[in-house]
Amino acid sequence: MPELPEVETIARRIAPYLIGKKLLSVVTRHAKSVRGDFSLVESAVVTNVFRRAKMLIIEFSNHNAILIHLKMTGQILYQDQATRLGGGHPTADWVAELPSKHTRAILEFSDNSNVFFNDMRLFGWVKVVTPKLLEQELQKYAPDIISPDVTPSYFFAELQRSRQSVKIVVLDQRVVAGVGNIYANDALHLAKIHPARPADSLSSKESNTLLAALQQVIRLGIERQGATIHSFRHIDGFAGAYQDVVRTYGKEGEPCPNCGASIERIKVGGRGTFFCPECQQILT
Ligand SMILES: [Zn+2]
Repeated sequence: MPELPEVETIARRIAPYLIGKKLLSVVTRHAKSVRGDFSLVESAVVTNVFRRAKMLIIEFSNHNAILIHLKMTGQILYQDQATRLGGGHPTADWVAELPSKHTRAILEFSDNSNVFFNDMRLFGWVKVVTPKLLEQELQKYAPDIISPDVTPSYFFAELQRSRQSVKIVVLDQRVVAGVGNIYANDALHLAKIHPARPADSLSSKESNTLLAALQQVIRLGIERQGATIHSFRHIDGFAGAYQDVVRTYGKEGEPCPNCGASIERIKVGGRGTFFCPECQQILT
């Protein structure tokens, strides 16, 4: 599943190609993947392309917007006569002829360029929203982990409110938006906190350390343009390079980068969780 750094990377890469272009029409190729009245954005000009939480948002001159969520297997591919780029779940569709059998929607622009939304498993969606609906949609998410709104006191107060495992709490998009499994594992390792510890057992000092670690790994992910471990590569051949610096994720049995102890794998909240039994003790 694409995480915050991957969606941020897609937004940054396609924005220069879309801003200033007029949308001609949206072609629906699978009804389950598209929602809303696309006449609200037809003939409007793209003014902004950005990411919020793990959603890609395309804003138009009439203030309506298209929201895209990639979920498990979504891809966004921009194509004009000279260029194809984008990202998401890596399949042969990246390099195959478009539209493919997994293309669920096509955004057609007036200069003959297109954005293809492909999604094998049909969990993702493309949705058109008015400014009011956009606001309502964005309100479902807590502030982004890298937003200045996530202050140390905000983060500590949120941890104090929950007795669930700290890892489950940092993955909760209503607490902070944009932290996925790879980055949660690595931030907990960096902060030397056991993933299964109750969130409310962390001291304020530990909470501050964890917040800094989360922001550090997410920023590193953006810098390295996403991880490819799960499902993300750049269509133009530049694979995301976060996998070269992953600390614990997927490294069961390999030595801890701090102490050399063997990384262990457990399940926390049903998700694969990797940690160092020496550096990340359950009792402090
Ligand atoms: Zn260790």
